[in-house]
Amino acid sequence: MIDLRSDTVTRPSDAMREAARTAEVGDDVYGEDPTVNELEARAAEAVGMEAALYVPTGTMGNQVAARTHTDRGQEVLCERESHIYKWELAGLAQHSALQARTIDGGPRGTITPEDIDAGHVATDGHRAGTGLLALENTHNSKGGVAIPAEAIDAAAEAAHDLDVPVHVDGARVFNASVALDTPAPRLLESVDSVLFCLSKGLGAPVGSMLAGSAAFVERARRHRKLLGGGMRQAGIIAAPGIEALSNVDRLETDHANAKTLAAGLDGIGGVTAAEPDTNIVVAGTESPAEAFVDAIAEEGVRASAFGDYRVRFCTHWDVDEDDIEEAVAGVRRAVA
Ligand SMILES: *Cc1c(COP(=O)(O)O)cnc(C)c1O
Repeated sequence: MIDLRSDTVTRPSDAMREAARTAEVGDDVYGEDPTVNELEARAAEAVGMEAALYVPTGTMGNQVAARTHTDRGQEVLCERESHIYKWELAGLAQHSALQARTIDGGPRGTITPEDIDAGHVATDGHRAGTGLLALENTHNSKGGVAIPAEAIDAAAEAAHDLDVPVHVDGARVFNASVALDTPAPRLLESVDSVLFCLSKGLGAPVGSMLAGSAAFVERARRHRKLLGGGMRQAGIIAAPGIEALSNVDRLETDHANAKTLAAGLDGIGGVTAAEPDTNIVVAGTESPAEAFVDAIAEEGVRASAFGDYRVRFCTHWDVDEDDIEEAVAGVRRAVA
């Protein structure tokens, strides 16, 4: 079975398992786990922020960020198909009493200064006020779209002009960085916080990082505790995360494999796939997505239904060029 449902399906490397086995640990709720402390320091450096916080999942990182940046009842400006809005169980409302105001970022999921000016709500006797702008890079639902630094800067400047802080859901921000050939710190230079996943293309078994200013991270640490994310000898899982930080360059391989996959799929009658920016290929199908996914599974290929006639394929380090060729052949058999 070639599993292209997500880049989260990878198994940890031997180096990661060994790192976990030998990790020095302590109680991280007391700030005494040296491995977690090292991971947080290295993660902050990797994204050019002052400090970082280890969180169990990307979802928790985004939710803690939203809670930390805002007051109850404020609005969050976010893209209509963004993860923080669409895939986190309405957590903005459930955890932080926030109201989302969504923006259609078009086929590339990009929020412009004009969108922000139009969507911004001032605080007055009737209106809650905008408390946060949440961006996403790469944009998952739009097909792993890498949003360039200039677009992020422009959006951040527009938000900051309105005194609105900016969070980036950068679950795959290193994919964006590699695809755009822009260092992650440059990509994030103008924003206030970023969430990134260790558990996706970087290959760690678990964990994400939320980074920002030291003051932001100090407050975020309390909100992580509130959501039940204060972990004890977490060095055991943080150690593979440190290993994962050295896997940034290999994302290039996933991107090349995704391009090969898209070209192969697009060559099959009844399937369309545009060249992807990064490691996510969203294919259009003639048959309903659920039926398509079931049919290709019969041929040894797993993908995710991603809309009525859209199917998502993700490349990752557990699949190589040969697997991609085999996957295309499997899809061709299923469609025929
Ligand atoms: C996967 C993902 C998340 C959440 O990560 P989990 O660790 O699965 O909770 C957040 N944002 C985006 C864009 C993602 O793709």
